[in-house]
Amino acid sequence: MPFSELGLSKPLIKAIASQHYPKPYPIQQEAIPAILQGKDILGIAKTGSGKTASFVLPILELFQRKSVARNRYIKALALVPTRELAVQVAEVFQTFSANLPRKVKTVAVFGGVSINPQMMALRDAEIVVATPGRLLDLMASNALQLTDVDILVLDEADKMLDLGFEEEMERIFDRLPRHRQTILFSATLGDAIEDINKNLLRNPVKIEV
Ligand code: AMP
Repeated sequence: MPFSELGLSKPLIKAIASQHYPKPYPIQQEAIPAILQGKDILGIAKTGSGKTASFVLPILELFQRKSVARNRYIKALALVPTRELAVQVAEVFQTFSANLPRKVKTVAVFGGVSINPQMMALRDAEIVVATPGRLLDLMASNALQLTDVDILVLDEADKMLDLGFEEEMERIFDRLPRHRQTILFSATLGDAIEDINKNLLRNPVKIEV
């Protein structure tokens, strides 16, 4: 099945062609149409499966259908365990959105570096890729608001738990609007991930690759 049959519009198809992806990986074939339909996703997938593009592409497509933001609040939040993954995921968003008609700004925020440049960068960002601790610090400084987040991605959720981010994640979940779409990716499916699944996801499409 080619990318053009997954429900993505021409500008996204062009962006994919410029990255020379010949055809969608299995996880992309399943996740892209489901995310475009507004469904929650429980994806059991490892790095290398193509999981990043499987949420980046449909999220950017959904942004193409949104009116341009009139406020400074972010609309999509991806939580990731590490600084490296934050940078990597934000780069995938930036690469695929570079030439889209409806401009979307993605910013990566993570700890271990000075907070001020991130606060500046967050101005007019609509997509934020964040590690949990730094996100909470930025929220405490009123540098960003989660009230308009309608898509939440938890990437490598098992690793976030392994690194001890459970409490931070709970605090972030408490601040998110209830009415939203949630996409959870994890390499493994243990009890803690099942708990998040039960508490946060509504009727998810389960994808295992
Ligand atoms: P990920 O599992 O998201 O870390 O992606 C693994 C690698 O596969 C990345 O280098 C992507 O650029 C690449 N990739 C993702 N989807 C495709 C595709 N459909 N065709 C070729 N390469 C891809």
